[in-house]
Amino acid sequence: MFDRRSALRLCLGGAAALGAGRAFAQGAGKPRTRIVFLGTKGGPRVGTGASNPANLVVVNDTPFVIDCGMGVTRQLVNAGVPIPSVKYILITHHHSDHNLEYGNLVYNAWAAGLSTVVHAFGPAGIEAMTKEFWELNKFDVETRMADEGRPDPRKLLVAKDIDEGPVLQTADVKVTAFRTPHPPIVDNYAYKFETPDGVIVFSSDTAYNPKLAEFAHGADVLVHECMYLPAVDRLVLKTKNGATLKKHLLDSHTTTEDVGRIAAAAEVKTLVLSHFVPGDDPEVTDENWVEGVKQNYSGRIVVAKDLMELRLPV
Ligand SMILES: [Zn+2]
Ligand SMILES: [Zn+2]
Repeated sequence: MFDRRSALRLCLGGAAALGAGRAFAQGAGKPRTRIVFLGTKGGPRVGTGASNPANLVVVNDTPFVIDCGMGVTRQLVNAGVPIPSVKYILITHHHSDHNLEYGNLVYNAWAAGLSTVVHAFGPAGIEAMTKEFWELNKFDVETRMADEGRPDPRKLLVAKDIDEGPVLQTADVKVTAFRTPHPPIVDNYAYKFETPDGVIVFSSDTAYNPKLAEFAHGADVLVHECMYLPAVDRLVLKTKNGATLKKHLLDSHTTTEDVGRIAAAAEVKTLVLSHFVPGDDPEVTDENWVEGVKQNYSGRIVVAKDLMELRLPV
């Protein structure tokens, strides 16, 4: 019998298949609000496949970069975003797959002609990290300022340690932070973007957290990290410190089944899976990523790929 539920399932199959494409065309012209998934692989290992974690939200031509995993500058270039146009950087937590290229992104923007202030927000430590970054690069920066007449980049990066709650508000966008557990890290924030075209929530790395569903409730798009257990088991077999690694992964990330529970409880319109753990197992298919989610969530599911663009409203 062809009931509504099976129609929806067919529809979802379509959504998963769409995930393999690069962009979602939603009418002609330039969208006011879009998300670009710059790096979708979870973890700090650099490989030949997907880039390390980073996302981009663009509203009315203002780019907001969420996380700066290794490769974020190159991925912005690949996405056609002029690096000096970056205005805001938000770091979710201080695991290196989320902040390793933070200072370097701003340095690279300066090298490309940055002339306007970049505001950076992140958990406690980002202010100190910013100072230390300029110390580390003092020789080059001061040489180029004197030799090439460039502006002082240290004045073009304003970093702020944040806590839970309101982070920033522009004419178009309001960003709010929400603390979510990612053991052993405590200062770890999901971010909610309220835009003229809908609400977007980024989960950050997180253990299964039903409270995150409350924070994300009614969002148009939830971008959630995810972990596929059968592949984690394969990974730990290949790893020397396998038992410790498995415990860390299980304690600090969310299985695909539980991501489905969060998306269902939050009643989000579109769920995007990204920050894949593991993110470099060629045997894991898009269908593998969505099968566990579908057990608990019947909305639209997108399997993010590097440089895929999602336009709002969805
Ligand atoms: Zn991560
Ligand atoms: Zn992490």
